[in-house]
Amino acid sequence: MRIFVPKETGAGENRVPLVPSTVGRLVKLGAAVEVESGLGLSIHRPDREYESVGAIINPSREAGLAAAELILRLRKPPLSEIAGFRQGVIHISYLDPFNEHELVGRLASGGVSAISKEMIPRVTVAQKMDALSSQANLAGYSAVILAAERLNKIFPMMTTPAGTIRPVKVFVIGVGVAGLQAIATAKRLGAEVEAFDTRPVVEEQVKSLGAKFVKIDLGETGQTAQGYAKELTPEQLEKQRQVMAQRCAAADVVITTAQVFGKRAPRLMTRAMVEGMRPGSVVVDLAVESGGNVEGARLGEEVDVNGVLVIGVANMPGRVAAAASEMYSSNIGNFVEHFWNKDEKRFVLDRESDILKGCLITHGGEIVHPTIRELIQATTNGVTAPPPA
Ligand code: NAD
Repeated sequence: MRIFVPKETGAGENRVPLVPSTVGRLVKLGAAVEVESGLGLSIHRPDREYESVGAIINPSREAGLAAAELILRLRKPPLSEIAGFRQGVIHISYLDPFNEHELVGRLASGGVSAISKEMIPRVTVAQKMDALSSQANLAGYSAVILAAERLNKIFPMMTTPAGTIRPVKVFVIGVGVAGLQAIATAKRLGAEVEAFDTRPVVEEQVKSLGAKFVKIDLGETGQTAQGYAKELTPEQLEKQRQVMAQRCAAADVVITTAQVFGKRAPRLMTRAMVEGMRPGSVVVDLAVESGGNVEGARLGEEVDVNGVLVIGVANMPGRVAAAASEMYSSNIGNFVEHFWNKDEKRFVLDRESDILKGCLITHGGEIVHPTIRELIQATTNGVTAPPPA
């Protein structure tokens, strides 16, 4: 089977979809892997490293895309490239299908079998393929390192002949994969850490990392079968903000990571809450790419709000691009290997597989994912779509 890996072209994207070790794995499976020349340069992996594991270096992106039976990349494909794909190609990447309706429509009409990395089900067997987790983990780490760099205080307690310096206080809001790693990283640096999440199961995890769980009685909250948070009512959100305002005011660093799958991120910190923090404090909004948790956070910018720095850095995992690429690449390699038929030496679209049912968005000229199909149909008809399961 002919695989092509194009270079990432998105502005500011320095991660690489496949590192040489994964390419080597695919070659050993019997795949003919072509990579666009310069694929790994942003993480200092020259073409010769890919060649040494059996890849063919293709200088022509168009020719590579046109001949491939399987395309592997990180970011969603530009609309302009779809017409140049071979009929029936399998395409694996992030797709953002809840928002990218035109793209999904074009992939369907172009006969592409498009697999969305963010839709891979959160089940144990698919954990090793889960790029949302691997990248969120690094985002949580990077957020703390960036905050530590911007803060004019030190994280650990320090007792010296010149006196004792108190540890900084970090408040983490939203304790999924990114939040847990943010807590662990801040603790390692010596901070005092508090955290909050609407999912009650999180309390034990927060405590096991040595942090304090902030209790807010919001009534019924809970989580979906996949472990995602349910959306709060406006009344619940207001109550949450009231308690959180005090915790934010006491913190030197606030890191927000709250997301509701398939929806805009909840607005958790108002401008008044940011202004209620001590000047010199730092807020990192890790949800800024899906709408933002913090009022005033701007995508790709660091904004000064009355002396409080609100950081809305895009692509936080890209700050540690070599590690992020290793992990994403491994997720892709594990996914391809799972569906690889060793005898036929090809990726097989096993439509009976629950993993594939969860993440195959378009196939055979149609949108085959039921939730995305309903969402797009409803939006097209001007009807409000049902929430994702
Ligand atoms: P996410 O990125 O969707 O959301 C981040 C966090 O924000 C979540 O913990 C969510 O509960 C929280 N949140 C939502 N609204 C909030 C609010 N109003 N206030 C505070 N917090 C709010 O979540 P994620 O990191 O992708 O993880 C979701 C779950 O999936 C976690 O339980 C995780 O452990 C689980 N998971 C399971 C697997 C698996 O294979 N079994 C793999 C990855 C993740």
